[in-house]
Order: sequence, then structure tokens, then C-alpha cells
Amino acid sequence: MNPLLDIQFRVPFDKIEGSDVEPAIDQLLADANARLEATIASDHPLRALDTLTEKLDYTMSVIRHLEGVATTPELRAAHNAIEPKVSAFYSSLPLNEGLWKAIQRYAATDEARALTGTMKRYLTKTIDSFKRHGAELDAPGKARLQEIDVALAEATTKFSEHVLDSTNAYDLTIEDEAQLKGLPPAAVAAARASAGSKGRSGWRFTLQAPSYAAVMTYLDDRAIREEMYRVFSTRATAEGPGGAAQDNAPLLAKILALRKEKAQLLGFRDFSDFVLDDRMAHTGARAQSFLHDLRRKTEPRFREENRELEAFAGMALQPWDVGYWAEKQRAKLYDFDEEALRPYFPLEHVVNGMFDIFGRVLGIRVTEESGVPVWDSHVRTYAVHDRASDAYLGSFYADWFPRENKRGGAWMDALITGNPAESKPHLGLICGNLTPPVDGKPALLTHREVETIFHEFGHLLHHLLSRVEVRSLAGTSVAWDFVELPSQIMENWCWERESLDLFARHWETGASIPEDLFQKMRRARTFRAANTQMRQLGFGYVDLALHREWDGTGDVIAWSRAVLQQFSPAPFPPEHAMLASFTHLFSSPVGYGAGYYSYKWAEVLDADAFTRFKKEGVFSASTGREYRDKILARGDSEDPAELYRSFMGRDPDPNALLVRAGLV
Ligand SMILES: [Zn+2]
Repeated sequence: MNPLLDIQFRVPFDKIEGSDVEPAIDQLLADANARLEATIASDHPLRALDTLTEKLDYTMSVIRHLEGVATTPELRAAHNAIEPKVSAFYSSLPLNEGLWKAIQRYAATDEARALTGTMKRYLTKTIDSFKRHGAELDAPGKARLQEIDVALAEATTKFSEHVLDSTNAYDLTIEDEAQLKGLPPAAVAAARASAGSKGRSGWRFTLQAPSYAAVMTYLDDRAIREEMYRVFSTRATAEGPGGAAQDNAPLLAKILALRKEKAQLLGFRDFSDFVLDDRMAHTGARAQSFLHDLRRKTEPRFREENRELEAFAGMALQPWDVGYWAEKQRAKLYDFDEEALRPYFPLEHVVNGMFDIFGRVLGIRVTEESGVPVWDSHVRTYAVHDRASDAYLGSFYADWFPRENKRGGAWMDALITGNPAESKPHLGLICGNLTPPVDGKPALLTHREVETIFHEFGHLLHHLLSRVEVRSLAGTSVAWDFVELPSQIMENWCWERESLDLFARHWETGASIPEDLFQKMRRARTFRAANTQMRQLGFGYVDLALHREWDGTGDVIAWSRAVLQQFSPAPFPPEHAMLASFTHLFSSPVGYGAGYYSYKWAEVLDADAFTRFKKEGVFSASTGREYRDKILARGDSEDPAELYRSFMGRDPDPNALLVRAGLV
């Protein structure tokens, strides 16, 4: 018996072997193809389409998960062997002519015209997805679309290779210890090890984030900061560290032109309108005016912060001075050491406190389960019930600590999407790489790690509390600029005295966080918030401007430098070419292209939605119930803008974000 062939709610994690993967996937792909044929022939293709890949989805999520948290050489090889055929199958669905005809045939029936609610939305979204993949184009149009997609995939892959190679083409070795002044001991040790790994003496610095950031933030030697800044900001240009072989300027022009052509071929004004059509913002113009409004409200404080920093430094600042002096200013003003908070955040208290808070607020009960098969002995498993009715809603796994066979970062994943109509429970998981327990002490977390746990738990609840009956629209399957609302809103509970007092207790004394430490932590949160915000707004601005206004002639790097300059606290040097290494926007065919604004958009949603809890009580069960019913339970069953309005009674208001950031 192959343990990967059937959906099992108690996933047999203890029985799955690398050798099970290929036979199971071959069988499931054959099944899915047979179901595809049956769907095309069916009078009810929409329902059939919704469950067409259910088994394959499940098995692939189990395999991907194991590959991410408990990989073995056999599993990795099997995963690499199946990945291309599985992705090819998924991406062939919205291009399948027979399926498109079956959906159109169905859409013309009285039954389809009479659809309401979630099923009606599912039909509309399915038709839109086919159209977005070119279903309505004539033969030459389809052929051109395919050429564009191939060319975009090639150009964007090259783009990110250039950034990587160019970043690695530079290093700086310091031989004189006196030049290291200002650097923290950890950065000095890392630089020493880095030199050693190259068989050199001295201290080696690179353009990789940890090394570069340490130099820009702490190194007293201004000339070295300037040199590294200048090299860093010309990566992937002809003048940059890798030279002309890694020049991204021609690729930028090509990617932008291809994206524009694709959007126009599919009937959109530009690439931003194409990308945002099925997101909450809907149009590029709407996203632009959103950013513009925030910019207007952030600029006065931005200028003030810049004047304050120059006064503190006693000189006019260049870009390579800003991070350095800002750190000196922060240390002087706040005298706040984040490490001082750790003793108040033992993992066990934090997690139980979080279950307690959201148990009350959202009307659920989280209890630990035992005897469930897991992939590592440290993994914990939990069941979630509705508090009032005692109905079983689903279960989840939590895997908190780093291991050698586990990837980095923190994430949530869905393994099984249940069906509320049939009382079928959901199954999901959350993973992190938190500070592990040492020296017989419990795991003591940083505040940022606590926020991470709350964040991932928010994504998880979006899945576990879903009441959507159409699988494809359930849980976290929502628009990109909406999906971070349920996660980010949870982080707010990590900043309120009332909720902190529930879970932040000194691991030895049981005391809550002293008031002066709490005040320092709150104040440090808003330090130079206008600069942080302007930087994000600048990236969003240049992204939308390139995808809406750039006319394809002239020097695209110089053009974007002028846009970005308006958001920078110091004048860029003339060779500054940040755009050439902007992988968020250009390292995949879509990626964050025309979508960078989503970071700020999601922050506005979470800050604004939390104001209801602030006003009605951070433990308010009635507000929580409404939030659960109107947002968490609804997945993508309705336009997210409607869901938001149904909870808040109005559209999102950016003011809450400005207040939280201390900008008004
Ligand atoms: Zn997230």
C-alpha cells in the first residue's frame, strides 16, 4: 500500500518513504487526467473542476512539506523528478481548449445563469482565468502570447542570475584592524570567518545582506562605507561589480515591453491593470492614488526626521551616512536592548497565551492532541473546536525549531481543505525557526519571534475557520493584497499591554514586563517611521510608474532614479542604479511586478481593522465573532473589498496606519 495515494486526515508521516513519491504521483496524474476528460464531458463541469485536483493537491502538499521540513537525499531526488510534470499539468488546465468549451457551454445554461453567491463568483472567476490565459484570442494571438511568456521567463531568469553573479563579484578585505572600528563583535567575527573560508588573512566584507548591512549601519570609516554603497547601488549594470556581462539595463527594457504587450494583447490598458484586475485594488490607478495619499501624509514628518538626523550628525548627509547616523541617534534616544525582553517570552507561555486570547476573541478552543503521527519528535499537534457548539473544525501541526533538514523562515500551509457542508474538518500546519531552548532554560523568544508566531497563526485560522463550500475559493485562496490581513492583524495583540500581560511573563519570576521596558519598546517602534514608510512608498511608486507610464524610450534606469530620489533622505550619486537589482519586480514573469504596493496596502488593512478591537476591546468576543464570520470564514467567496466593508462598515482608512507609526 502506497501511503501517498489516498487522502488521509491522519497523514501517515511516519510511513512515507522517498520511494513512494514517483509511483503515487504517476498514478494521481493519470487519475487527474481521467477526471479532466470526465469533467469536459460532464453537464456540471464547474463542480467537477473544483475537486478535479483534490487528491493531487493533497499529496503534493504532503511531499513539498516533507521536502521542506524533513528532507532526505531520496526525497529530494524524487521531488525533483516529479516537480516538472506536476507543474506542467497544473499550468495546462487554464489553457485546455476542451475544458474552456465545457465551461462556456455550461455558462450558457439556465442553471448557470441562475447561480448566486459563491458558485456564481466561482464561475465568473473561472471564465476570467481562462481569458487571462488567452482563451479568447485568435490563433496568431495565442501563438504570440506563448512567445511572450517564454521570452518573459527567459529574460526574468537572466535578470536574477545577473543580480546574483554581480553581487558575488565584489568583496573587500580589510587588513588593518583599526579600520574595523564601530562594528559589533558578531560582525567582526563573521568577517574574520569569511576571510578564513577564502584562505585569506584579515576581515572580508561582501554585498550579501548581513555583511553589507553591518558595514552601512556601524562602520566608522566613512570612505569604506562610501565605496561599498557605490558598488552596491550599481550591481547588475555595465559599470557594476560584474561588468558588462551582467548588465540588466537591456533586460529591463525588454521585460517592461513584453509585459505591456501581453497586457494589451489581453485587452488591458497596461500591465498594472492586467495584474490588479483580480486583486483588491482592481486597477493601477487605484493603487497609485492609494500610494499618493500616504505619501502626502508622510512627507512632512519625513522632512522633519531628515532635518533632525542632520542636526544630530552635524553635517549634510550622503546616502552612505544615513544608516550609520540613524543607528547612533537610535542608541542615544532609546537606550533599548531588545534582548532584555527575551526572559518574558518563553515559548510555552506565548503559545498557550495566544490560544487563550484567540480562544476568547474568536470563540474557539485549541487543545493539544496526542498519538498523531508526525515527521519529527518535536512537532506538536492540536485540535480546534468551536467554543459554543463544540463542533470540531480541524487540526494543525506546529513545528517551531530549526533543524539541519528543514528550510529557513516561518510559514503556514494547508494540507486538507475541509467542507463545512459535509462537516469535513480542515488540516493545516505552522512552521518556524525560533530560538531553541539552551542550557536547561526554556526557549526564550525575541519580540519579533513572538510576532511571527501570531502572524502564522493568523494565516492558519484563515484556513481552519473557513466556511466556504467551494474548495477553490476557501481559506487563504484570496487576492494577494488581501491575504496578509488575517496574519498581520494578529501582530497587534503583541503590542497591547492587556494582551501582553496574558502571555508575557518572566520565565523564572512570573512577573509581567516592567512599565519602563514596555514604554521603551513602544517608542522604539516608531523611530524614523516616516523614512521606513517613504522607502516602501518609493518602491511602490516606481513599480507602478514603470508599468503604467514608462514609454519605452530613453534610459529607464535614469528615469527611475529620478522617481526614487523623491523618496530618499539623501541625494543619490549619478551612477545609482537600484532598479537593475530590483529582483522583487523583475526576477519572475509577474512576481511583485505592479504589486509592490501590496505591502503598504495590507498594513493599512490590518491597522485599520484593528481599530475596531482597540475601540470595542482587544478581548471583545462580539467584535471577534463578527471578524470571524465576515472575514476569516469567508475566504474568497466574495470580493475582498465587500468583505472588508461588511466588517468595518466602510472602506479602509489609512489614518490608522499613520497613527500606529506615530506619523500623526
Ligand atoms: Zn504572511
